[in-house]
Amino acid sequence: MPEVTLISITPNAEKVIEDAGRTAYLSFHRKGKNSAKKFIQMLIRCGHTSVLEHASATFRIRGGSRSFTHQLVRHRLASFCQQSQRYVSEKEFKFIIPKKIKDNPQAKEIFISTILACQEGYATLLEMGIPKEDARYLLPNAIESEIVITANMREWRHILSLRCAPSAQWEIRKICLEILKLLKKEVPSVFADFEIQEDRESAQITNISQ
Ligand SMILES: Cc1cc2nc3c(=O)[nH]c(=O)nc-3n(C[C@H](O)[C@H](O)[C@H](O)COP(=O)(O)OP(=O)(O)OC[C@H]3O[C@@H](n4cnc5c(N)ncnc54)[C@H](O)[C@@H]3O)c2cc1C
Repeated sequence: MPEVTLISITPNAEKVIEDAGRTAYLSFHRKGKNSAKKFIQMLIRCGHTSVLEHASATFRIRGGSRSFTHQLVRHRLASFCQQSQRYVSEKEFKFIIPKKIKDNPQAKEIFISTILACQEGYATLLEMGIPKEDARYLLPNAIESEIVITANMREWRHILSLRCAPSAQWEIRKICLEILKLLKKEVPSVFADFEIQEDRESAQITNISQ
């Protein structure tokens, strides 16, 4: 299972969002102990989600495949830093085996022997003096890669609405569900309309706007 760690989140994120948003209405006098929750849910209901951009969160993800990271980095409003295959040797690389392959002995054997051949070929190229940046061309999509992602709460809602949905691929869905669980704990009012369906390993949004 990939490891998802929350590195950082805007301190008092819900209060920061409320404080910024109330500027639009000059309604600071309406702030109270529990007012942020109601206010943020009102913003989301009426589609005023730009206010959510005032808070952001950063996660480190270890143990996901390069297939997964390739999907994640398509999200253009997020910021990334990823383990480099130019600077880090992949001689001892770990890899992900999809469950449907793991559960099929013949498929598993083909998969593992092909990966091991890639690993051996990669190591041989390095020993021949081929630079890492060239040897990496034979590395598989299954290879594990580490990545850090930062996004604001509006973009997190967007990413998680796409990637936690049942139509998303299983690996990115699994990892994004972990992120969603952590964000639901940290900023519950921002993700109150994301309902996690444990039995289907997915999440559904109950609100119309994102
Ligand atoms: C189930 C699924 C299957 C997919 N299959 C494929 C596939 O087969 N091939 C493929 O290439 N990709 C595929 N993708 C990736 C998809 O095409 C998007 O690149 C990815 O989901 C990022 O989404 P986005 O552009 O909405 O979001 P982000 O890049 O996170 O941007 C967030 C939002 O900002 C706005 N925005 C960002 N940039 C611009 C811009 N330049 N102009 C205008 N508005 C902008 C948009 O409103 C956008 O929704 C798939 C994604 C999913 C979820």
